[in-house]
Amino acid sequence: GTPKQPKNCGSLLEELVEKARQQAPGGQVADYIPALAEVDPEHLGIAVVELDGTVHIAGDAHTPFSIQSISKVFGLAIAMQRMDDVLWERVRMEPSGQAFNSIVQLEWEHGIPRNPFINAGAIVIADVLVSHYSASKTAFVQYVRQLSGNPNIHANHRVWESEKEHGNRNAALAYLMKSFGNIESEVPEVLDHYFFQCSVEMSCIDLAKSLGFLANRGVQPGTEQVICDARSAHRINALLSTSGMYDQSGEFAFTVGLPAKSGVGGGIVAVVPDYGVIAAWSPPLNRFGNPTRAVEMVTQFAERLGLSVYT
Ligand code: GLU
Repeated sequence: GTPKQPKNCGSLLEELVEKARQQAPGGQVADYIPALAEVDPEHLGIAVVELDGTVHIAGDAHTPFSIQSISKVFGLAIAMQRMDDVLWERVRMEPSGQAFNSIVQLEWEHGIPRNPFINAGAIVIADVLVSHYSASKTAFVQYVRQLSGNPNIHANHRVWESEKEHGNRNAALAYLMKSFGNIESEVPEVLDHYFFQCSVEMSCIDLAKSLGFLANRGVQPGTEQVICDARSAHRINALLSTSGMYDQSGEFAFTVGLPAKSGVGGGIVAVVPDYGVIAAWSPPLNRFGNPTRAVEMVTQFAERLGLSVYT
């Protein structure tokens, strides 16, 4: 629908950050690796980038953080551009109803992950990237630099290394899928790529700028470059709506109604078709792994402007 324009979007964002600052953190920061456990839980940021290039920000919107699972959106967009519909024989498009790193379904379902946003699915996508590029990690970074217009985006090597050290469950997922023939490359190489893309750091502004093409039928606003066709943009948004918010995706659709992806670094991006992209950051996570206060800011913003795609 057509969003209601508030008198001053910037001051609405300031108000939301201020409110969030007064709320309880709503959980703990991710602590499975030291580099994430050390992040200040009080960071709060939000950025809204409209299709005409207008940027609204409040709080720590310029501070880069670990994008973690948000990287799965970029990986999927690259893979869909490189591969035709046979991709969907290797990964499905159904919500999983399980934790993001669950392994049980994979055994029942013969190594075919439920969707590209659970870890198993993202590892299949990482395999596609490793198979299609001689330097998939470089390709990934170049992709997000180009989309965001920020040439300084890079991976955090400390995070990348610790992800690898603590990556036994992801390794188990990858080897199980390889046993079913659903991983082409060597597992260590695929995991290396997956952990690398998780360790990339971007700010709320970078993220909101990067995903503009999803709000604009595949065309990147500003540069007018075709990032993917309209059908792919539609499909990515559909998957984000059904599976982007871990095992809270149904509730997020129910209460907010926007395609969105979160990550354990505390980030969330939400796509508002024909309007723009919202990105928010707050490190403490709720029991689903979603960033409590960042989700709250996005929820309030969407509600105030009437942005749900289901209205
Ligand atoms: N690197 C994390 C993992 O694969 C990413 C988790 C996430 O953001 O969901 O376990």
